[in-house]
Amino acid sequence: MSAEYQKEMIERINLLRKERNAVILAHNYVLGEVQDIADFVGDSLELSIKAKNTGCDVIVFCGVKFMAETAKILSPGKTVLHPVPASGCPMADMADADKLRKLKALHPGAVTVCYVNSTAEVKTEVDICCTSANAAKIVAAIPADKEVIFLPDKNLGANVSIALNRPMILWPGFCPTHMRITAEMILRKKNEFPDAFVIVHPECTPDVVALADKYLSTGGMLRFARETEHKKIIVGTEQGIIHRLQRENPDKMFIPVSEQAVCPNMKMIELNDVLNSLEKMQYEIILDPDTIAKAAAPIIKMIEAGS
Ligand code: SF4
Repeated sequence: MSAEYQKEMIERINLLRKERNAVILAHNYVLGEVQDIADFVGDSLELSIKAKNTGCDVIVFCGVKFMAETAKILSPGKTVLHPVPASGCPMADMADADKLRKLKALHPGAVTVCYVNSTAEVKTEVDICCTSANAAKIVAAIPADKEVIFLPDKNLGANVSIALNRPMILWPGFCPTHMRITAEMILRKKNEFPDAFVIVHPECTPDVVALADKYLSTGGMLRFARETEHKKIIVGTEQGIIHRLQRENPDKMFIPVSEQAVCPNMKMIELNDVLNSLEKMQYEIILDPDTIAKAAAPIIKMIEAGS
């Protein structure tokens, strides 16, 4: 794309953004060109909460589908657009409400904790949501005599289970992108950059997490990068975050653990799709009021828990 064409496209996006009273949200993992024109860049829940608190009429969510659904759940009166409907999250799609109902029937009395990376339908069946930042705090607040079903990410669940020394029933879902980061890759990078600090995301497997200096959510990584004295940081998560880390901390060096840690679903939305979305008001997230009410309850419970 020529620089001139890109400039023209951005001007049209800016015009439509005003006309429609829209905010553009971009997840930390989406293409840099989309992050650069967004009103807010962040993790999925943070973005949905920000959009809820603005006076906008339209939310364009550049991220995967469950994120746009969460924005709709928290802002049911606003029009939420997802520019590329095919951009879904394989991990979220690994859990379904029917199977969850069956699992819950096998464990009556269990508390069901659901990572926000899940579909609206699944959220209607759970007791409380969590993020990768607050998962341990949410589980720790559940009485010790209660069983816990954790879904859909078995790795986040296992990392929480290890941290709290508490067994949990783990749904067998996983993030294919974070599963591509292996312990060998961490060891290789540590060898290459022996003075670097290692941060990884808790969607990585426990053997990877065990080799890191810290495991952090994407929001936690951004905060850590701003505050740390370390100048060289090895980053074990989806590569898109490097764009923002580097932009916000030009004096520091961020080394991705692996060039393979790319979520193709997060890269589907391009500038052109954002423009089409605003021009044609596509593709609207439609959820029925009952689903919205039921799916909002565990998210609100999490927020009220102060997490
Ligand atoms: S990085 Fe993983 S959890 Fe995030 S959207 Fe991609 S597959 Fe889903």
